[in-house]
Amino acid sequence: MSHSDPSCIFCKIVAGQIPSRKAYEDEEILVFHDINPWAPVHLLIIPKTHIVSLAHVQPEHQALLGRMMLLMNKLAVEHGCNPYPDGGFRIVSNTGREGGQEVHHLHFHLMGGPRPWARG
Ligand code: AMP
Ligand code: ZN
Repeated sequence: MSHSDPSCIFCKIVAGQIPSRKAYEDEEILVFHDINPWAPVHLLIIPKTHIVSLAHVQPEHQALLGRMMLLMNKLAVEHGCNPYPDGGFRIVSNTGREGGQEVHHLHFHLMGGPRPWARG
């Protein structure tokens, strides 16, 4: 079951109503480049369905979350991160106001690439 929130910026990106630089797509997952990158590689990995945050995930999302995790190393290396262990990447999922979440559609930041980074 897929949900969409018409006022959500990431749902609009999924629907193609707002442009994005796509890095990967399948039926359930979209990956695109962050518009304001913190690092040489800065991707956002999102479910196509509107899940608000990690505080909202349910048992029915287990396989989807697992698939997102399993994609990360491949995405990192294909988009310019050096391989583990000298390279690697950082995954962040800001959750809620005190967690620094600005866009309330679940997303994982994947950041990596040669240092120094703009932030972090
Ligand atoms: P946060 O909710 O704080 O984890 O971060 C939301 C992220 O979405 C920020 O890093 C923004 O730069 C990024 N962002 C917001 N709008 C867009 C957009 N239209 N295209 C790509 N990235 C975006
Ligand atoms: Zn959404």
